[in-house]
Amino acid sequence: MSTYTKEKLHQALKHFFGYDEFRLNQLPIIESVLNSSDTLAIMPTGAGKSICYQLPAMLLPGITIVVSPLIALMKDQVDALLANGIYGAFLNSSQSADEQRRIIEDARQGNIKLLYIAPERIPANSESFFDFLRQLNPSLFAIDEAHCISSWGHDFRPDYLKLAVLKKHFPAVPVIALTASADTLTQKDIVEKLDLRHPRIFVSSFNRPNIQYHVQAKKDAFKQILDYIKKHKDDSGIIYALSRASTEGIAGRLYEAGIKAAYYHAGMDAAERGRVQEAFQRDEYKVIVATIAFGMGIDKSNVRFVIHHDVSKNVEGYYQETGRAGRDGLKSDAILFYSFGDIMKLRKFAEVENNPQQSAISRKKLQLMQDYCEHEGCRRQYLMQYFGEEFPPYCGNCDYCLSSLEEKDATIDGQKLLSAISRTGERYGAGYIIDLLRGSASEKIQPAHKELKTYGIGKDLKKEEWQWMVQQLLYNRFIDKTDDQFATLKLNDKSWKLLKGETELKLVLRKEKIAPAEEEEPEYDKQLLKDLKGLRLDIADQEHVPAYNILADNSLIELATYLPLSFDDLKQISGFGDYKISKYGAGFLKIIKQYAEEHNLPSRISYKKPKEKKRDKPAKPSVSNTQQATLALYRDGVSIPEIAAQRGLSVSTIEGHLAVFIANGELDIHKIIAKLKLEKIVSVIKSTGQTFAAKPIKDLLGDDFTYGEIKMAQEYYRRSNS
Ligand code: ADP
Ligand code: ZN
Repeated sequence: MSTYTKEKLHQALKHFFGYDEFRLNQLPIIESVLNSSDTLAIMPTGAGKSICYQLPAMLLPGITIVVSPLIALMKDQVDALLANGIYGAFLNSSQSADEQRRIIEDARQGNIKLLYIAPERIPANSESFFDFLRQLNPSLFAIDEAHCISSWGHDFRPDYLKLAVLKKHFPAVPVIALTASADTLTQKDIVEKLDLRHPRIFVSSFNRPNIQYHVQAKKDAFKQILDYIKKHKDDSGIIYALSRASTEGIAGRLYEAGIKAAYYHAGMDAAERGRVQEAFQRDEYKVIVATIAFGMGIDKSNVRFVIHHDVSKNVEGYYQETGRAGRDGLKSDAILFYSFGDIMKLRKFAEVENNPQQSAISRKKLQLMQDYCEHEGCRRQYLMQYFGEEFPPYCGNCDYCLSSLEEKDATIDGQKLLSAISRTGERYGAGYIIDLLRGSASEKIQPAHKELKTYGIGKDLKKEEWQWMVQQLLYNRFIDKTDDQFATLKLNDKSWKLLKGETELKLVLRKEKIAPAEEEEPEYDKQLLKDLKGLRLDIADQEHVPAYNILADNSLIELATYLPLSFDDLKQISGFGDYKISKYGAGFLKIIKQYAEEHNLPSRISYKKPKEKKRDKPAKPSVSNTQQATLALYRDGVSIPEIAAQRGLSVSTIEGHLAVFIANGELDIHKIIAKLKLEKIVSVIKSTGQTFAAKPIKDLLGDDFTYGEIKMAQEYYRRSNS
């Protein structure tokens, strides 16, 4: 068993990398590796896979060998390690023989902690290579982008197959395989091909909560894009377009409008592409307009927006591209411009010559992309369900969830629709059923169907409203649709429950659509942030590394927000590990001190409370005097409105006070909120999954419910489910 306690691992994370908390499954993955278990870690791009082997590498006695396919990324990773004072190095074909010899010698001497190797550097006759590795006495093997070993994956690289004998040569050395590829066939394949022994497998959620998803109608797309960029002029972003010509066109127009933009596509020569990418990494270009060729090799953490000028050809690609935004965890936007015309164009591309099977798959995937664009519901839920993850129908951070919502009881309309499907023998598509419901006089409607009771029963709704209903019923699985060209609507078990009145149909309607939010005014000192960025750029230039390798944007924002004035204060800033503090701390402190003096500002570091240590059980909420005062009055039999009046506070505030005592079990909610009302709130909490935020629930429930009641119900709900 490993001798590292969670506390020790937290300390190591802070010391080497300057981070306060582990993300997702980082901690259990690291524990697994340090226990010498073979480990498969599946995490979305940008979630922080590297730490999963870099931290163990620092704690294990010998060297960690990292196999990684992308030469550009390799250099970046090693630069990031060096910036943290960790001796990492790489071996790949971009280096001279001399350079490689020097690194190998250093590794033999035991000086290198992490050695990155490109798979093509492993000779086909791998014996000599494994002999060489044996001399280095490795403690751990990390196989990055492990899906490359699988022909199921989207990026098969035959060189990876040379790793199949790794475990034979080093049965006792643990292997960690890492990938962002979700699909289960690929996972299984990785385990088999690498011959992992009783591997521990960790799958993290693919959700990227800091990305806000928007779909906008493609009208004056260029103008919309330009407006957006102008409002976010300090931000970096990527615009994806389908054709090379349009990347050049858009970049040119942006450039004329004074935006530092460049284009990138596969038609350019490699040197030129490298130059553009490098300049973007270094923030010399703010915006890159690119075909999908751009992105594989890019590891820029502060991309604030990804805009799709054209529709993507499938959801996988779209999600991967949007995933290049916000890798630093800060709020970012993903905006897609949708037009049906794009779908028509893509349909032509979907046809693979002489391969009807492949064509059918591509068409189906395009259909699902179109469904995403036209989806009337939470975008994130759609995306997560697409990747096989259950997700509540409300995320609070997409165009749909940010619009004002209204819950509608659609039970009766749903029953009308289902009954029309049933009475016509489940043999028709949506168009026919809707015409029938609306009593169309068209000859297409069979005479016998015009005699049905359901004929014309749905005149009160417009055609589009019925189309929306059909979509909602499909999406909520109240009906099924055949996959053939007729797309016939079919009933299922859930349909019958609804028809028999055993279940209700509640739909969430959107009242208005919102545009991506304007940049929020964060409470940091803007000029100071500029100065700090300036210093960072100077250091980056001196050291020939990208600026974010020195410190990430969010670290600079924290500096400009909390104004640390001493080395001790600096320790509280995320991303400032001990090495970076000793190397760069003085320079940044100098600028902050000077700024604070000029503007007569005190340090605000005390506002940055150290994160509470994780407890096994949630702590009892602490109770303040004002809450106690409310409780005393309430116990004396004073009604809530009276308490509010006496204390000069709002009813909702008083209810909020009482919520604390519901949470700790001192009060019984049933004595405060009527049963039916409570059930109603709880059902919305359940369906939205919002157990903390009251606003989304309030939006759905409307004026008959107070914030205080919602808060109380949430406390009750959490308590009864913990
Ligand atoms: P990927 O999973 O795509 O390989 P990386 O390992 O490159 O992601 O990490 C993405 C970014 O997140 C990096 O800038 C990294 O330093 C940062 N990061 C990783 N773990 C943490 C953490 N626990 N706290 C804060 N930032 C982290
Ligand atoms: Zn949402």
